[in-house]
Amino acid sequence: MRKNIVAGNWKMNNDLRKTQALIKALDEKIKTSKTEVMIAPVFVNLQSAVKQLKDSYIEVIAQNMHFADSGAYTGEVGAKMLKSVGVKTVILGHSERRAYFNETDELLIKKVDAALKNNMRVIFCFGEELKDRKSGNHQNVVESQIKNVLFHLPASSFENIVLAYEPVWAIGTGETASPEQAQDMHKFVRETLSNKYKASLAKNMSIIYGGSVKPDNAKEIFSKPDVDGGLIGGASLNADDFFAIVNAF
Ligand code: PEP
Repeated sequence: MRKNIVAGNWKMNNDLRKTQALIKALDEKIKTSKTEVMIAPVFVNLQSAVKQLKDSYIEVIAQNMHFADSGAYTGEVGAKMLKSVGVKTVILGHSERRAYFNETDELLIKKVDAALKNNMRVIFCFGEELKDRKSGNHQNVVESQIKNVLFHLPASSFENIVLAYEPVWAIGTGETASPEQAQDMHKFVRETLSNKYKASLAKNMSIIYGGSVKPDNAKEIFSKPDVDGGLIGGASLNADDFFAIVNAF
């Protein structure tokens, strides 16, 4: 069912002490909301975060995972391990993973399949680079990212997928897609899903936007009919800013 979602991607920020302090501040502010609220601390702080938020409305999610459940993959973490500490949702396909860790569509297929097989929910990120936007190729790029990684799945899998449109040129740059650019792409994604599956599936998908969302632009972006929330990087590291964004609906 389509829901409004605001998820904070903390990236490689905050040691244990800072994680606990930020969670405390958020938990005091975000008591209940019609919006689903999630935070993604680093792997080593997930267990502590889950414990700290056990009676809370805020869900703790992971920033990444490996496709194997276990094995000789030094430094990696699998879905079953995440689930064993109470994490049920994972971000996959973030542009920083694609750019700095060479995550390809082929790898992401395996990761998405592994997460779904383990009954995890996936926040699947996709988005074009500046050169694609400038050349007018942005819709083709996004369409192929979605088709390549998700279109082998049965319709029922999409109940456990949230889509996150994150134009690479807007991530961490202070440059935001205009509300109209976000709306146009979200509408296009919904049409793409509708063409492959059914209109009802497309209508029920939560499609969130990420890319320099801040308290002062969140309201306008979230007011667009096909934008169901945000994946928030920098602004999610400040409790007041994140709270303001959660309340922007
Ligand atoms: C992100 O990393 O998913 C993101 C949207 O970052 P920022 O909000 O800092 O642009």
